[in-house]
Amino acid sequence: MSQPGKVVCVGRNYAEHARELGHAVPEQPLLFMKPGSAVVDLRSPLAIPTDRGACHHETEICLLLGRDLRRADAEQARAAIAGIGLGLDLTLRDLQAELKAAGHPWERAKAFDGAAALTPFLPPATCPDLTQIEFFLDVDGQRRQTGHSGDMLLGIVDLLAHISAVFSLQAGDVVMSGTPAGVAALQVGQQLRLGLAGVTWSTHVVAADA
Ligand code: ZN
Repeated sequence: MSQPGKVVCVGRNYAEHARELGHAVPEQPLLFMKPGSAVVDLRSPLAIPTDRGACHHETEICLLLGRDLRRADAEQARAAIAGIGLGLDLTLRDLQAELKAAGHPWERAKAFDGAAALTPFLPPATCPDLTQIEFFLDVDGQRRQTGHSGDMLLGIVDLLAHISAVFSLQAGDVVMSGTPAGVAALQVGQQLRLGLAGVTWSTHVVAADA
């Protein structure tokens, strides 16, 4: 998997997830980034830090950019999507809570090596209607997260266009479009299975510092 220049993430893009963490639904998307160095192939063993509190899974539809976007309209944004996949936005939740309380940036909780575990990207034609994408995460055979792109507060195309008005997206960048409800702490040894558009990928959790 080639390493993207940056991974742009959106917080609280599903109302139910915002509520489960006790947040108001934002008026505009909450944006943050992970560096390219955080990206790993989700099919490799999922290495999580075990010495910094809870590490949560956030299962998200990911968009691979095939061309640069700057102040794009919806049509340009749609045409720039080169691939659609799933990713785990791994989050050191206890640390993030401390950082939030102190008014500090989130990188310590969100940008560590391995914090963006991405599946391979499927051709855009796999998901002809971007408002009708269903996806899930199973942990040890139990469904933990289900998502539907129609439930996003800002849909995929509008989200890309919005981001491109804030800063440039470049070919090779990845956008993680936010998590639905059901986030929880990962445990070493768990088996994970993710699915989107009839395709599934599996991994298992190991300790990064072991
Ligand atoms: Zn996320």
